[in-house]
Amino acid sequence: MKIRVLGCHGSQLPNHNTTSFLLEKNVLMDAGTVTPVLTLEEQLRIDYIFVTHAHLDHVRDIMFLVDNLSYAKRERPLIICSSRGIIENIHRHLFNDVIWPDFSKIPSARAPLIKFEILTPGRKKVLGDMQVRAIGVHHTVETMGFMLESQGKTVLFLGDTGPTDGVWKAARAVKDLKAIFVETSLPGSMQDIADKTGHLTPVTLACELKKLKNAKPDIYLYHMKPRYAGVISREVAAIQNRKIHIVKDGQVIRL
Ligand SMILES: [Zn+2]
Ligand SMILES: [Zn+2]
Repeated sequence: MKIRVLGCHGSQLPNHNTTSFLLEKNVLMDAGTVTPVLTLEEQLRIDYIFVTHAHLDHVRDIMFLVDNLSYAKRERPLIICSSRGIIENIHRHLFNDVIWPDFSKIPSARAPLIKFEILTPGRKKVLGDMQVRAIGVHHTVETMGFMLESQGKTVLFLGDTGPTDGVWKAARAVKDLKAIFVETSLPGSMQDIADKTGHLTPVTLACELKKLKNAKPDIYLYHMKPRYAGVISREVAAIQNRKIHIVKDGQVIRL
């Protein structure tokens, strides 16, 4: 499985893009940064976007991507996948004919540019050559992690989250889970703010990783606030007995 990191930060600054991962050529995990990075040809190949939650740093470029697809006259729809509540947030607050056109009716309701695919949390669904399961995590708004199986490999993407349980239990139950992508937004000195805003620090990350017990997937950390990346990295280095990698914008990961 090939995963290209289009953006992996918790805020935007020059050379620091907000969250989006491209799986193979046609699947996006979140869409914080897509159109400034992918060529139009690459954008036209995208079939699915899994959305962890409706915060702007994870959905912003769905808008510009759809706009590009519309002028490129693409015929098949872009499928936006998430739980019912998250889909409703996106539809009501973004594609509402005020902030952005409602592309689920453009060019026509019968053949629109976007379609919404509602995933029931905890239930597996087959989409293309993937099997996917949404699992709720603990952020300030409704947020899903996604367990995704493709080409015989299983990967877990957690969205923004503070301490949570169900998703770690699900991770333990998967035989040969290859990798977990998990956020670490703030340093330990900002634990208070992290708790209030539903994020992890290296301190709470270490506690969360203990919930994996004997499972040892590769751990990929992302969603750092850029100004704290140095101190977070130093704090993470103290976590023992785990294969932890800090993700970089533009990196290509092969599992
Ligand atoms: Zn975020
Ligand atoms: Zn968020």
